[in-house]
Amino acid sequence: MSEAVRWQDYKSHLNPIWCPGCGHFGVLNGIYQALAKLRKEPHRTCFISGIGCSSRIPGYTKTYGFNSIHGRALPIAEGVKSANPDLSVIVATGDGDCAAIGAGHFAHTAKRNSDLTVLMMDNGIYGLTKGQTSPTTPHEFKTKSSYFGNPENPANPLALALAYNATFVARCFSGNIQHLTETIVAGIQHRGFSFLQILSPCVTYRGREQFSILREITPPLPEGYDPKDKLAAYKYAEDPEKLWLGIFYESQEPTLGDKFDAIAGKAAAKGKATLDGLLDRFQM
Ligand code: SF4
Repeated sequence: MSEAVRWQDYKSHLNPIWCPGCGHFGVLNGIYQALAKLRKEPHRTCFISGIGCSSRIPGYTKTYGFNSIHGRALPIAEGVKSANPDLSVIVATGDGDCAAIGAGHFAHTAKRNSDLTVLMMDNGIYGLTKGQTSPTTPHEFKTKSSYFGNPENPANPLALALAYNATFVARCFSGNIQHLTETIVAGIQHRGFSFLQILSPCVTYRGREQFSILREITPPLPEGYDPKDKLAAYKYAEDPEKLWLGIFYESQEPTLGDKFDAIAGKAAAKGKATLDGLLDRFQM
């Protein structure tokens, strides 16, 4: 084990350029604290992101990382994990990056149970491009691209993750660092696809009051809540009044890597389709 156990050991030399007061500072803090708690060796950790304010995370963490292209963080992360199964691969994304252009990848990566941790920093707006309506912008909220208010109902990322059989589904708030840190730790420790919707206010395009508004409507899931009960997870995820915080659902299932290993084992048992055998077919 390396000496990297202080949160400062995961901080890169770059200073964040987010707007003062942005919720993403809290997320970054939670990430540093979680990595330190887990004593994750930086060279065994990798952050992959797409495009957006949230996607700056790989630049601010002293681990492996790749700030990739819009909406495509998940297939890149899946490739990194497949080639390096011992790496902890964490995806930093936003509501626009993950639930709009990247929504197809999100759904199917969840369904495959790829062993990844997805941190969706959800501020309900496209912040980097200066305030357009995103998939999670509230109904009737006025944005740069919806002058008379958003005419659509927002998507529900938790319900989407549940519908596509994600095996770890949680919600946190960047204004509650202790809970956020604990949940990131649990998400990274989970073997399989872990999804965290992190409510993270964009103070510039959603308003500074977002922190106080969210504090009022984000209670912890009730005592005795059973994260194995998927129907209960849907019920609390769809609550129109409150944005409950906690682990909504968790189950242990074979990961994508396990499934590939099983297929490779079956093929090998039949005496064909080994990797070497397949490559031999392409020899000149
Ligand atoms: Fe944060 Fe919004 Fe500024 Fe982006 S535009 S850095 S999300 S406050």
